[in-house]
Amino acid sequence: MKHLNEMYQELGISETVLAYGNQIEAQLKERFEAIDQTAEYNQLKVIHAMQKHKVSEACLSASTGYGYNDLGRDTLEAVYAEAFHTEAALVRPQIACGTHALTLALSGNLRPGDELLSPVGKPYDTLEEVIGIRPSRGSLKEYGVTYRQVDLLPDGSFDFENIKKAINEKTKLVEIQRSKGYLTRPTLSVAQIGELIRFIKGIKPDVICMVDNCYGEFVETIEPTDVGADLIVGSLIKNPGGGLAPIGGYIAGKQEYVENAAYRLTSPGLGKEVGATLGVNAAFYQGFFLAPTVVAGALKGAVFAANIYESLGFDVVPNSKESRHDIIQAVTFHDPEGVIAFCKGIQAAAPVDSYVDPEPWAMPGYDSDVIMAAGAFIQGSSIELSADGPIKPPYTVYFQGGLTWNHAKLGILMSLEKLVNKGIVVL
Ligand SMILES: *Cc1c(COP(=O)(O)O)cnc(C)c1O
Repeated sequence: MKHLNEMYQELGISETVLAYGNQIEAQLKERFEAIDQTAEYNQLKVIHAMQKHKVSEACLSASTGYGYNDLGRDTLEAVYAEAFHTEAALVRPQIACGTHALTLALSGNLRPGDELLSPVGKPYDTLEEVIGIRPSRGSLKEYGVTYRQVDLLPDGSFDFENIKKAINEKTKLVEIQRSKGYLTRPTLSVAQIGELIRFIKGIKPDVICMVDNCYGEFVETIEPTDVGADLIVGSLIKNPGGGLAPIGGYIAGKQEYVENAAYRLTSPGLGKEVGATLGVNAAFYQGFFLAPTVVAGALKGAVFAANIYESLGFDVVPNSKESRHDIIQAVTFHDPEGVIAFCKGIQAAAPVDSYVDPEPWAMPGYDSDVIMAAGAFIQGSSIELSADGPIKPPYTVYFQGGLTWNHAKLGILMSLEKLVNKGIVVL
């Protein structure tokens, strides 16, 4: 049998890089233990939800056509609602992506004359066209929904004074984005989200508090719905799909608001009653079952990367010690070659398309070239090990995912190997 070091060497990891990585990993025992404890709690939460709602073999089969009385679909929605402690959930393959799920939750619950408020600064890029911050056909703005935004204070905290001023008789829905996404602000903890919701409801109790939960599910033992959120929304090719869901999104929360979103997804009157699952049920269930441990693997990868690159003198967000509230890790190289080498390493470690050499390109919708690394089983899946970075100052790469900690470790070691080979890092 080959020694483990030889296995790494065969994949392209030198003794020096492996030794460096192992020495960092050895310092992370306590962090990893805490991550495993969260996963243990969340695993039980999911199993309890599945048992309570009597998930059966029949739930795993497919429906076609209208999909009336799809037991698997309806039970899965009850399982999501149970796990997230909500009245209802909508979990569907007809939801194309996270942006689509967010659009359904917003457009289903806002009416002409209503106002949408983001009290945490600019929302995720793709929502700019949904809301109409950037003009777009079919935006909420076209339908007479206005938008207000209150930025976070320079230290990343809530601007309570201006949030209070921004809430008015038109304010119908407040959108709170949990993850920093591709901004440099800190990701919000569930406790912080709870504090914000309490403040907002204190001013206007009937306002709908919706949380963009993308990349946040199962990172903590509680979710925003445990601290007062009326709706949480996310993508199934991120955390809750566990890497197995081939498509989909979810919305969980108060019955009425979930129903409103379902009326948008299908049509008024039909709502959740239609929507065939075409055979994805088994992957949705199994993915949700695996999600707590998959998220744990991704988190370990993010913590490992933060510690490696911080120790080498690069800026990392979150830093090596900070507590985690999403699975995204940013590393700033202040050098385009650093971003490129990092991404090439992530790609080279992938189980799929490892032989592909990613290059920066002018992606539509971006104001600079972007390099992306993804060797995923599911196209675009970012719960799988992936990285991307715009080729512009400060030359930051965003890295996330990893279906297993072992793969995340290999990917990060490979990124380091490429940086060493380029002479950007000297060990
Ligand atoms: C990924 C993401 C979205 C959008 O999801 P897509 O599946 O890419 O459409 C929205 N908000 C946040 C915070 C995200 O991370």
